Amino acid sequence: MRSSRRPPRVPDPGGPMSTQSQDIQWLNGFLHSLWPAASELIGAEFTHAAVTGFNHPEDDDDTEPAPTPEPPGPGPVPPPDPDNPFPKLTDLDPVEQITRTYRRIMTLPFRKLAKGLKWVLESTLRMSPSSTWVDLSRPPGVRAAGPDAITAYFPPMNADRHQFRTRISTLGKVGGALGISVRVDVYLRLRAKFSANEKPDPEIDEPHLDTNRRGEIFESLLKWKDEVDGELADSDLRDELGFLSTARYNREAARTATPERLVPTREVLPDGINIVLVPDGFDPTDLDEFDEYVQAARDRLYQPDEKRVNEPFHSFKSVLHLWELRPEQSRDGDFVVGAHRDGSGYRASLGNLARLAAIGRSAEQAASGTTILVFIAHREAQQFEEARADSRRVRAMAMGNVVLLPLRGDQDGDKDLEAFTNLLLHELGHTVLGNLADEYDQNNEDTYRGQERLAANLESQPVQAGALGRVGAALRFPRWDRWIRNPDHLPSWNQHPITGVEGGGYFGRGIWRPAQDCAMNSLPHDNHMAQFCAVCREQLTRTTRGLLEPGRFLVRIGDASGEAEFRTLEPERRGRTLITEQLRVSPGTTTDIQVSVVAGTLAEPWEVEARLDGAGRLQSPRDRRFIEGRPTPPRAWSFQAEAGDVLTIEIDSGCPFTPSDDMPHYTIELDCVPDPDTVEPPARPTQLTATQVGNNPVGTQQQARLRASSADPNGQDLRLLFEVVREGEPFLGRSTEQTDWIPADPTGKQVSGQASFRGLDGTYQIRAAARNRSGRSSRWSAPVNLVLHMTPPDNGGDGNVGGGNDGSRPRPPFTP
Ligand SMILES: [Zn+2]
Repeated sequence: MRSSRRPPRVPDPGGPMSTQSQDIQWLNGFLHSLWPAASELIGAEFTHAAVTGFNHPEDDDDTEPAPTPEPPGPGPVPPPDPDNPFPKLTDLDPVEQITRTYRRIMTLPFRKLAKGLKWVLESTLRMSPSSTWVDLSRPPGVRAAGPDAITAYFPPMNADRHQFRTRISTLGKVGGALGISVRVDVYLRLRAKFSANEKPDPEIDEPHLDTNRRGEIFESLLKWKDEVDGELADSDLRDELGFLSTARYNREAARTATPERLVPTREVLPDGINIVLVPDGFDPTDLDEFDEYVQAARDRLYQPDEKRVNEPFHSFKSVLHLWELRPEQSRDGDFVVGAHRDGSGYRASLGNLARLAAIGRSAEQAASGTTILVFIAHREAQQFEEARADSRRVRAMAMGNVVLLPLRGDQDGDKDLEAFTNLLLHELGHTVLGNLADEYDQNNEDTYRGQERLAANLESQPVQAGALGRVGAALRFPRWDRWIRNPDHLPSWNQHPITGVEGGGYFGRGIWRPAQDCAMNSLPHDNHMAQFCAVCREQLTRTTRGLLEPGRFLVRIGDASGEAEFRTLEPERRGRTLITEQLRVSPGTTTDIQVSVVAGTLAEPWEVEARLDGAGRLQSPRDRRFIEGRPTPPRAWSFQAEAGDVLTIEIDSGCPFTPSDDMPHYTIELDCVPDPDTVEPPARPTQLTATQVGNNPVGTQQQARLRASSADPNGQDLRLLFEVVREGEPFLGRSTEQTDWIPADPTGKQVSGQASFRGLDGTYQIRAAARNRSGRSSRWSAPVNLVLHMTPPDNGGDGNVGGGNDGSRPRPPFTP
């Protein structure tokens, strides 16, 4: 079993709590969050390159050559090329043996077959795209490499080497029928050193190769491995590491400022989704221009859009927090957004890791929850000069929790802002909110042969629905099947049905996207961007939900004086949907109460119903004004409350983006209880017992039932709290287990309740207290002891334990 120990700490030359160690901590988190999308892309590109590079170019088309029973003689086998690294077949099973096996399967002329088979095998030996895979699941790690340099390890130092695994298969029925397969594992590790004013310096450890074949084929594979090595060492590696390709580590630039939250201006739920806009390469004199982009982003995310291009982000607007952070900077200073040449174009890449880390730290210190940094780079910033000289633009890029967005500014005013906001939505799809892939093909007609895509919006291995292997047979897309079969699940405003359309992920063939058009497909300079397709909307909704605490609501509670407090409400335990909370009222009179639900982690629109169990009348102001960052319409109620009243609010999500998921239905119960200052505490609990329930296996936790009784002099419901400590340890005065609410007895008698406790074998001390709805607690009871026993060893057995390891015959059954 692999140990899960942490990497040993490396002494940081900057000393404890230095900027560098903080940078490293942040960069580790950054690489962790970008890794799912980055590894998906790197894996796809790498396996594609390996498969197409290894396979015979002349066989590199879609039609698989089927073995012909009457092959054309020995055939025009290409002359051996001394530089050709492709494996030879000489160490495969002798042809006679293969043919004998084959003969049993097919009754065909023997001699002709022997010749033909050899030819077929030789000309079709190739890497199988469907079983070639790079496992990059371990995120990289960052370490200090001197006072002003850091190194990123892919994978981290304590992990196994990344594994590249493939099966070499002979295509067609021959190889399959004969079960010929060649396993090849290539283990790779690479690292990239970053230091000030230098481009990253990537290095690859000598790849390690393992295969189940020896002899000439092994030599060929070794040669091929060297080719892979050479290609990796080439500039391609910088491209594969996309984001990091021009990054430096320049600590001098690690200055920043405090972010300011722009939307919403009210209290917010903790752990929301924070989008932090950062100007990059803006002079203090042109920050007005940055303001325009901020305003445009704000409108795009929060204003209702009749075309729904901003969905599903808009459905989460009450927990979507927009910030801006303006670090000290100059146009020709240190940039976070860099640019590097990639093929015929330019891509955005990271410019300065220390600056990125400093900005990331500032943002995360101010905002709780998921933080996405959006760097908006001034078009005249110096780092884009090379691209401009080439009459090209630097393309935006996003992964994990960072978006690098170089401004183009080559259109007039409004159109430019519109293109910017469309691009922002597209890039957000790439971030941790969706980990979506690009759906466009860049006019590349090549066939994709890389590994299966993990991004929800690409499919490279559809199922053939018609006759097996028949060209033109209908394809099935299991991961999109529910959408394809149920077009009625699409909202009425949906533009593009899910059908599966060939082309996507920068390839024109061999890979499919869900719909004809989508925001992940629209080219970034389109001013009229498509909606996210249903598959992308669903994925974004699910991922975003996964980043939020389920069933968390922000409720504003006001009284007649106009004073209000905000409370974060959520179910007591994850997975539950009942939320209870107390509203304090004066006893013996009525209190004006206003309640509004101002934010929630449940996707909108909400279907809300409220009812009051009490004498007062529930009123709901019909305020339908649109307010940024508020659920629409706002949910607010007011009533005259008396002690004992209960306001129940039922909330469902009417969000149509995830029809196959069960969306929870939440119930918020607000109990009007007397102010704790005006009520007596409950009685100190009595009849405290703790009993072990059954026996669990040795070494696992045992279970006990805790019971006690109490009464409330005010006639309120009670909850029993238990504090369990190991024998010899002090009580700390906090409950470790508790019961649900126990209804009050109308005659004021004692009520009992129970909770369960789990712990390892041993002796424990337990005491109990009671708390009423007003929040008053009793004194703790006298403690009792609990001894948890382990299961007695099972010596019943079958008498055969340990037998057989000495090679002797089975022992005869024991007879007394
Ligand atoms: Zn899509």
